Amino acid sequence: MKITDIKAVYPAWKKKGSGAWQEYYWQIVVRVETDTGVLGYGYGGGGEPGKLIVNGHLRDALIGRTIGSVDDIRDTWDHLYFKSLPYGRNGIVIMALSGIDLALWDLLGKTEGKPVYELIGGLKKDKVRAYATGGDPARVRDLGYTAVKRSHKWRSDADYDVAAVQAARCRELFGPDALLMFDCYMSWDAWVALRMREILAEYEPYWFEDLITPDHLDELAELRPRLAPVLLAGGEHDFSHHAFRAIARAGALDLWQPDITWCGGITAGLRILDLARSQGVPVCPHRGGEIWGLHLIAATDCMDLAETHPDRRNDMDGSVLLDEPVVSGGEIAPADRPGFGVTLKPAYC
Ligand SMILES: [Mg+2]
Repeated sequence: MKITDIKAVYPAWKKKGSGAWQEYYWQIVVRVETDTGVLGYGYGGGGEPGKLIVNGHLRDALIGRTIGSVDDIRDTWDHLYFKSLPYGRNGIVIMALSGIDLALWDLLGKTEGKPVYELIGGLKKDKVRAYATGGDPARVRDLGYTAVKRSHKWRSDADYDVAAVQAARCRELFGPDALLMFDCYMSWDAWVALRMREILAEYEPYWFEDLITPDHLDELAELRPRLAPVLLAGGEHDFSHHAFRAIARAGALDLWQPDITWCGGITAGLRILDLARSQGVPVCPHRGGEIWGLHLIAATDCMDLAETHPDRRNDMDGSVLLDEPVVSGGEIAPADRPGFGVTLKPAYC
């Protein structure tokens, strides 16, 4: 089938006025049309600039291409990557390209009558263990979660106690077998991390995420063994397999967390996974409980762990799709429907 048109829209997300980047460049919806009448939908990033990139140069580069196989999607990814390379490679361009890639996987799945996980290679996990980022811990426990992540931004020494209180509360509520993680959102440094490791040791944190900025791979590599047994996780702000190759070369992280709607879609996700496998590094996609990453997790040797935001639904995120899978008994699974198996609200179709 031939691509006849492509269009990105930027939903009117609710702004909270925090000034955070997400309020400016959040998720776009990409729609791909074909000469067979089948439509594909994907989810990318980059807000208004992402939309302009898709609707401009990338649209013109895409129209007329034939999509009949996974190889065609791969070739198309490379075509768009090289076309946009002088101004792309990272950031908003790859976030936008992610939406196109995901729309092509959706399109191929719908054409072949197969879920995307079948196109990737078939289900390897019927259900995926969900973890909760944020949310009231008691409510999260009542929802059946057995893994939780707390956001923690370090600003002053008082935050050591804040982290310890959070960890103690989670251990008390979830018990000794639950996974407990901390997302530092690039606000810690080596000294804070080592001190946190000491203070939190009795609560056995599983990983520290996004500890410092991804520009400091050598510092991360140096710190990594000193934090053991706590794993050093990251990668949500890295784009395509090229960035992860640099992470691998530096030995910067114990665990990789590409975001499938930002890093280049399923196509880039599979390349990152190939690389991770060759390095013996586990992969746990950022926001993996959203349908785009969930198909990849379910169909591959990604970790059996999917990130969900119990409090984010119906807020900024999750208000575009009508029938996303939900967590039940602490687990989540993609629907057995063609493509990604989700329907968009009519406003975005
Ligand atoms: Mg994070």
